[in-house]
Amino acid sequence: MDLNIKINDKNHLDIGGADACDIAEEFGTPTYVIDENRIRDNYNRFYNAFSKYYPDFRVYYACKANTNLAVMRILESEGCCIDAVSPGEVYTSKKLGFPGERILFTGNNVTTEELKFVAEQGAVLNLDSVSALKRLAEVVDPEGFKISFRVNPMVGAGHHDHCITGGVMSKFGIMDNEAVEVYQFAEDLGFTPVGMHSHIGSGILDPEPFKLAIESTIDIAGKVHTEAGIDFEFVDFGGGVGIPYTPEENIVDIDTFAKENIALFKSKLEEHDLGKPTMYLEPGRYLVGDASVLLTRVNSVKQSYRKFLGVDSGFHTLLRPAMYDSYHHIVLANKMDAPNTQEVDIAGNVCESGDLFARDRPMPDVEEGDLLAILNAGAYGFTMSSNYNSRPKASEVLVKDGECFLTRERETFEDLFNKQIIPDYLQ
Ligand SMILES: *Cc1c(COP(=O)(O)O)cnc(C)c1O
Repeated sequence: MDLNIKINDKNHLDIGGADACDIAEEFGTPTYVIDENRIRDNYNRFYNAFSKYYPDFRVYYACKANTNLAVMRILESEGCCIDAVSPGEVYTSKKLGFPGERILFTGNNVTTEELKFVAEQGAVLNLDSVSALKRLAEVVDPEGFKISFRVNPMVGAGHHDHCITGGVMSKFGIMDNEAVEVYQFAEDLGFTPVGMHSHIGSGILDPEPFKLAIESTIDIAGKVHTEAGIDFEFVDFGGGVGIPYTPEENIVDIDTFAKENIALFKSKLEEHDLGKPTMYLEPGRYLVGDASVLLTRVNSVKQSYRKFLGVDSGFHTLLRPAMYDSYHHIVLANKMDAPNTQEVDIAGNVCESGDLFARDRPMPDVEEGDLLAILNAGAYGFTMSSNYNSRPKASEVLVKDGECFLTRERETFEDLFNKQIIPDYLQ
């Protein structure tokens, strides 16, 4: 089992040296708890694996996975860069000290005003369409302005259809067969295209799709280099490295993964005479996914036609099971040694039948008041949460060597009114 579960001598779940039950007691539930050291370990393991074989390497954290400010500060302190997909993420990154030069903006269907804002922040723009290119030319001086394009490498992979971002059905990137023309057009407008980007999907445990994406992306870059005369300063293969969510899945052997992909990368660069551009990767899930758990308390045990454990969170807190049918391993955090005795459904508190964290899940005997920990909740957890059903959002706690810090207060009912205005005539 590669799920990185630690148990303390009270038989409680240990999170970064802190006791899950103590955290639930002190901060209430539901609460996301994130382990700082795990993020640092994940970053360094990832960075070292690739830079060992190709020193001119940068990690761009895809911050849509988790934009908690403390999490982003931790990664900033490690020397990480940022992959931002919205002006809000660019704004946040700048505020937290990331220089524009270390922020890559990979927006999709962005407005001209947004392009202008991002350019003013000094972020590097990675364009997704000819439309964006033309509109960018209206709001910046193209002379010497460095840009990059996201291309569709016609390879897609991912844990769910929604997460596959390459291929003929994908809305992302410019087409492989229009790349030469688009880079040429950018140059004609006065821009300096310096990068090429692709991102094929998310939650990928198999190294093969990455290899296909590297081959395909470098083939496109080679063509653009030969036919449009573009010299690449960087090539970016996006994110997507998965983590095990089920006890059966294995951890990606990142060293072998890096070694094989870098070998292929180097040979493809040589084949197309592309020199030695900097290699970028954009892990999101890999850096933060397994660093966090969601603590939630069982408030009702119900024997209906099925047996339900009802908890005090739902898909407004953690959307992945409802949205992607994702498996999250769930443990009984206050009795970690209890053996499984039954199969139950674990249901949230939202008024929707689809609000289930698990169906037919083997679990120990669970009583009302027990504490559950939903594992691997660090990526696409809090960032996808909402106020649906007028539920205030959860709190977030950072653990550093056993010490706990509240990094986000639990919302209150008053927060539900935030920004709403009742017209005078209805007062
Ligand atoms: C979401 C995203 C990523 C990160 O994906 P993970 O599966 O979390 O690694 C990287 N790059 C882009 C452009 C993305 O949209």
